[in-house]
Amino acid sequence: MPESPHRLTSKAERDVNVCCQFLDFNETWERDMGPAFMAYRHDWQRYSAARELRPFPMHLDFDLTNTCTLRCTFCPRTQMARRGTLPPAFTMPFDVYAAAIDEGAQKGLYAVNLNASGEPLLHPDLVRMVTYARESGILDIMLHTSGLFLDEPMAQRLMDAGLTKLIVSFDSPDKAHYEALRVGSSYDRVVANIRTAARLKRQAGSITPFIRINMVLMRENAHEREAMIDMWRDVVDGMGFLEYINYYQWDEEDRYRHRVAYREDFVCEKPWQRLAVTHDGGIKFCHLDDADEVVLGNLSSMSLEEAWTGEVMTRYRELQKAGRIREIGLCSRCSTPMMPVEGD
Ligand code: SF4
Repeated sequence: MPESPHRLTSKAERDVNVCCQFLDFNETWERDMGPAFMAYRHDWQRYSAARELRPFPMHLDFDLTNTCTLRCTFCPRTQMARRGTLPPAFTMPFDVYAAAIDEGAQKGLYAVNLNASGEPLLHPDLVRMVTYARESGILDIMLHTSGLFLDEPMAQRLMDAGLTKLIVSFDSPDKAHYEALRVGSSYDRVVANIRTAARLKRQAGSITPFIRINMVLMRENAHEREAMIDMWRDVVDGMGFLEYINYYQWDEEDRYRHRVAYREDFVCEKPWQRLAVTHDGGIKFCHLDDADEVVLGNLSSMSLEEAWTGEVMTRYRELQKAGRIREIGLCSRCSTPMMPVEGD
């Protein structure tokens, strides 16, 4: 891998996942968010790194909707559509969301991410959901979006509602290449939308949301990383570089830029960080479980705390710590433990 002239913070140091690197242009942002936010980030590092169990998850991922108008070539959703396994369109009712937030607010939930299998800006209650989380005391409220529907009114409403992190997926500084990767998107519209969101924030003198561009690094675009930094460094607060992952080997193309191999001794940090909530209140072991393979229970009859401390989560954590991650069916087919082969 060529050395970047820009200082990258390895997620191996920050979040114990070697698949991501972050480049923060605004390096004081977390500190500027205040002592409570810093304490949350400290806990995030501590519990993740030590694989230490906290009484309640630090983070919840909500699958608000699986609707998306794009067909990004490398996205698991696109692969599901191609394989005919995409579920019918759904949206999460507000009450399901509120029930999870209410429990989380009582029991020490720090963060929520408002997307999983679709485009969150297509959920009709999105702004209300951000407001509800903020008014409930959730410290970190984030979402990942294609940016296509992030027009000025939406950017303003999300900022006013208290969104803390706005993460926009953007994978090439070249218009033709971007639109070939993000099939159905518009380069010009997304660039304009990101610039508008950054301007609104600047004009308001607000430190939130932290605006980050996420780039998925693949064989076909990795050479564009430095040009991406040049394109965005004076516009947004930071960038994330995520190594492409062929989730569950659904993608028939080989997009990895390194040779990878499954690490049998991999201990994933996620079971010590987070749970996921499906649109109908299902509580999932892992937010990357796109096929809803391991659903621990439902909010209608099980609390998040019960799921978090229950038998299945306990056994899965024990298996992972014992170097037996392959015995967890979902993890054995997951590509997160796929690591670059040394020397490659
Ligand atoms: S399915 Fe993958 S990401 Fe999820 S806990 Fe298992 S190894 Fe980690």
